[in-house]
Amino acid sequence: MMLPKREVIYQKYGGRCAYCGCVLDKKNWHIDHLEPLRRGDGDQYKHRDVITNMMPSCPSCNHYKSTWTIEEFRREIQLMPSRINKKNPTYKMAKRYGLIREEVNKVEFYFEYYNSCPPLVKAYINDTVLEHLKEHGARL
Ligand SMILES: [Zn+2]
Repeated sequence: MMLPKREVIYQKYGGRCAYCGCVLDKKNWHIDHLEPLRRGDGDQYKHRDVITNMMPSCPSCNHYKSTWTIEEFRREIQLMPSRINKKNPTYKMAKRYGLIREEVNKVEFYFEYYNSCPPLVKAYINDTVLEHLKEHGARL
């Protein structure tokens, strides 16, 4: 039996957001287009509306990514610490008091990590998500 398209997309990365890797709430997740359907200039790319270009996403990653490409999205996330440092005195003070420690990391999206895992690790990740969903009363 074939799974419905939405279920296939949900399972693509073991029930996690393709970008940040959080466990997706079955009742509140989005389908994002890796290569955007629309761009800021109003151009439309309807040929990108295919299942291979559809990514399971949490609502916040989907909204933030908007019409950016994956590399534009990566760059914007990479800039977050410097933006917070420029605009938020409370954050800077919390840093001075040692309450927050920044790490310089390269932004890696969850789907990039997942795709690099061997099949056994992917199966383990998928099982872990299923257990998490059962514990939280999700109907599977
Ligand atoms: Zn996310």
